[in-house]
Amino acid sequence: MFWKRVLDFVLPRYCKVCGRRLDTAEIHLCVACYLSMPFMDYKPDGISPAERILLTNSKVVRASSVIHYDRESDYRHILFHLKYWNHPEVGSWLARIGAEKLMPKGFFQGVDCIVPLPLTRSKEKQRGYNQCMYIAQGISQVTGLPVVTGSVIRDEDRTRQATLGKFQRWGNAQGLFKVSDCEPLRGRHILVVDDVMTTGATLCSLIDTIVLAVPDVRISVFTLALAL
Ligand SMILES: [Zn+2]
Repeated sequence: MFWKRVLDFVLPRYCKVCGRRLDTAEIHLCVACYLSMPFMDYKPDGISPAERILLTNSKVVRASSVIHYDRESDYRHILFHLKYWNHPEVGSWLARIGAEKLMPKGFFQGVDCIVPLPLTRSKEKQRGYNQCMYIAQGISQVTGLPVVTGSVIRDEDRTRQATLGKFQRWGNAQGLFKVSDCEPLRGRHILVVDDVMTTGATLCSLIDTIVLAVPDVRISVFTLALAL
């Protein structure tokens, strides 16, 4: 604790939501921002907002998000830190919190492995990391589930085409991904992981691609945030 205090004095840390200087015991967020976090409530017997978007594919078992994403809210800064401001560890932290909330509700029941949504190779090189990998690792730390990478890849050319327009529409989100190795997914119940779900177009594209290549797969979805 003493050295943590010294380190905080030399290298102060700030709340990733409101920007206030953090106390030694606070992690990523100040207590006030943590207590007001816009958590989503997952009810195993109901249909979650994420499920409403994704259950159109019959292979989808369940879906949940940790927090509400609102463009006007300062909580969007958590996602900016994760994706653009080089603090991917905040993704693992929030994923651990989300997984601890979902675990007693049976959300991970029957799930065999975690598949982080892949970035294109050039995007990952430019960013230096895949933020979804950090989210997957956070879930894995709580659930003990293995993380599977490399069996699905994001197609460089298709992604470039899809982002040419101002908005990514349903039509051009199709075919963004390729399954390069079916074996680790065959007969499995996989948990697909993404940072933010907005229209669900990208996730549906990934799910459709996996189901087409591996028909006996089952899929659940975990996102850090849901924009509605
Ligand atoms: Zn704060």
